[in-house]
Amino acid sequence: MKIPANVLKNEFLLHSVEYEKKAIEVLRSGWYVLGREVIAFEEEFANYIGTKNCVGVGNGLDAIYLALRALGISKGDEVIVQANAYIACVIGITQTGATPVFVEPDEYFSIDASKIEEKITNKTKALLIVHLYGHSADMDRVLEVAKKYNLFLVEDCAQSHGTCFKNKKTGSFGDVGCFSFYPSKTIGGFGDGGAIVTNDDDIASKVKVLRNYGSEKRYYNEVVGVNSRLDEMQAGLLRIKLKYVNDSLMQRQKICESYLKEIENNAIILPKIREDTYVAWHQFVIRTNSRDAFADYLKNKEIDSIIHYPIPPHLSKAYEYLKIKQGSLPATENYANTMLSLPLYIGMTTEEQNYVINVVNQYKQGDV
Ligand SMILES: *Cc1c(COP(=O)(O)O)cnc(C)c1O
Repeated sequence: MKIPANVLKNEFLLHSVEYEKKAIEVLRSGWYVLGREVIAFEEEFANYIGTKNCVGVGNGLDAIYLALRALGISKGDEVIVQANAYIACVIGITQTGATPVFVEPDEYFSIDASKIEEKITNKTKALLIVHLYGHSADMDRVLEVAKKYNLFLVEDCAQSHGTCFKNKKTGSFGDVGCFSFYPSKTIGGFGDGGAIVTNDDDIASKVKVLRNYGSEKRYYNEVVGVNSRLDEMQAGLLRIKLKYVNDSLMQRQKICESYLKEIENNAIILPKIREDTYVAWHQFVIRTNSRDAFADYLKNKEIDSIIHYPIPPHLSKAYEYLKIKQGSLPATENYANTMLSLPLYIGMTTEEQNYVINVVNQYKQGDV
């Protein structure tokens, strides 16, 4: 049996009539960027997350970058971020001119909140909390630190659409929540897309200005902005994705529950679930020694897997200039060497799930 790591088309096929109808509607509307679909999506997404405002932008990276810009983060400032984050989180920081300061993750792949304080200096302006794979950081402790040191709190929710900590959705805890709607995300569009959510009207209007060249009134530019607008096609199609989000989260949860229940292998460490959280499963990330051999073993059984991510930002060539030595963030580096995401997608059949479970269970260290 051949098992892909992800299948993007299945969610579309479930409601293809609705998607196709919307696509034609947008084509025939004669208005293609920042229009009524975007306004409607912004309202519906803010409602879903539980914030007052949502502002659509071009992608998840811009959501982070523009959120930090709206907060006034710039050169000379430091932004604390977990070291096992995706590269976009770090690029979002360095694009503002600020310096990323890395903190190690805890056993739930989230920032280790007990290690934030030791990294705070008089230059620290903000915490960028990245909720990876659908797990939530310990927001009680994160909020405590943010309050104590008067830091801005930005959440990167590109992998946590629908994730809750104590019944409150990620993205609604901090000053700004940042989302990506890249096709492979839990709420994914059919092209690039992103958004920020916030309860602060001032931040929302600043991002609205920044996303459109820095002009509130057309051709009158107050600040140097960027072009990062959400288009009508994506917004219209994302409204349909959003309408069915609970069905798709339920399906993802079912698959991950059977992985959690039925995978039994001493060589494999299963993901842990933090108390008081609802995990909106984005990736099912296991850990194992000799990870590359395990990936080859799966490949030989025709199971595709992905590594999120093999090289942590501080060891990437792009960030060599930060001069952070290999070995200085051991938990992060250990994750990068041992992690692997099992196949997880809408429409994955019980047979496909059982095949993956059996193949994983039969694995013995040393097998290829
Ligand atoms: C995907 C992702 C981003 C970037 O989103 P894009 O839409 O690809 O720019 C940022 N942060 C995290 C955690 C992501 O997974």
